[in-house]
Amino acid sequence: MAGKRCLSWIVFATLAVAIFVCMDGRTAEDTRASRIAEFEVKTKKALKANNARLWLDAADYALKQQLWEFYGDCLKHAVEADPKNAAVQTLLNKKLVGSEWLTDDEIFEREAKQKTAQGLVYYANYWGTPAQVDALRATDRKTVGWDVQVRLQSPRGYVTVYSNESLETTRRAAAITEATGYAYWEFYQTTFNLRLPPPLTVYLFKDKATFDQIFSKVSKQGPLPNGVAGVYGNGFKILLVHTDTGITGDSYLSTMAHEMIHAMDDRLAGIFKGNSPNWLMEGRAEHIGTYARWERLVIPGYVGLEANTAAVAFLTQEIESINLRQFLMASEKQKFGFAGYCVSFAFVHFLFHAENEKHAYAFRLFLSGGPNHYTMADFEKIVGKIDTIEPAYKKYVHDFLLPGMIATQKMAQDVRNTAQAKLESKDTQK
Ligand SMILES: [Zn+2]
Repeated sequence: MAGKRCLSWIVFATLAVAIFVCMDGRTAEDTRASRIAEFEVKTKKALKANNARLWLDAADYALKQQLWEFYGDCLKHAVEADPKNAAVQTLLNKKLVGSEWLTDDEIFEREAKQKTAQGLVYYANYWGTPAQVDALRATDRKTVGWDVQVRLQSPRGYVTVYSNESLETTRRAAAITEATGYAYWEFYQTTFNLRLPPPLTVYLFKDKATFDQIFSKVSKQGPLPNGVAGVYGNGFKILLVHTDTGITGDSYLSTMAHEMIHAMDDRLAGIFKGNSPNWLMEGRAEHIGTYARWERLVIPGYVGLEANTAAVAFLTQEIESINLRQFLMASEKQKFGFAGYCVSFAFVHFLFHAENEKHAYAFRLFLSGGPNHYTMADFEKIVGKIDTIEPAYKKYVHDFLLPGMIATQKMAQDVRNTAQAKLESKDTQK
């Protein structure tokens, strides 16, 4: 059954003990310090001119130089400098309604207030009378075989989410799946010669019991182990995620994004764990899947908070002792656990981004060869000798990836704090 399904690593991460180790980061600090110095020159200029365009340039620089923790601040300044600037507002994921720029949530909240006052209820991208909605829900229940609370079409209509979770959770899930789908499409369009994604069905459950029940039904397999928060099966072509993980916060969104990459790989590129090496599948799923969410913006390199802490600890401690060739060879045959996800993610990150994207072209060429050419021999012929690559890979992890991952932890915490503050202010309003 190996290769028929993919287990998300998010929950494995919580099992790993997060230990912070003081690392000798002089090289990392030096290069990072010089990038920050250049960034500060840009922000001083932008601040002095109070110019949105210059703040956008600084934001762009922050992204490209992996100074992600400064990105949000730049956008904040940009929008203060010019609240009517369409480019800035679009980057903040806002839409023009009349003369106001609003987020999807704000637009929805306004609409919901109006409709609820008229006695209407929401279901399946549709406002109807309770009787109308009951009828629709009954039809869905029959179709999917369980009690549907919320059915949602994602904003562009690509993903349909059947869910027994809350409306808010379901809306976020739909949005992240679609954002991930598009990130994949943009990133790999030329590599895999992609067409636009076909529609995808996603199931979201608030309880493990329904998740197990529906998974067994669609996969004809027994229930998945307790730690598994999400799965996409290339046999049954459906993505299932549950939030019954004991982890608070929005880690289900990272799980969604990760599984979404497996769905896209299978449905668009024709690659899956059964015909391609594990490191290639899981490393890439983490890499693009974690192109992440800052107000639903997509930022490369971000890792979900829980997984990030454990992954940083693991890579800090273990990267030097990894035998890359051995790891890659083994991962062609065997499944791997949390450590394998960390090493693969870091390796894919290296191949796409290290040294001014030095390896990116060759790696894409290797990828475009397809499953029959995903061998070590082909890799070394096209991308380079592992023995040469290994020290550069370790240096990249130490000097660039780890500092970036630590920086995004702060960002993830900010996102979480903002969400928490919003929740608390809602509670006090009641
Ligand atoms: Zn996976």
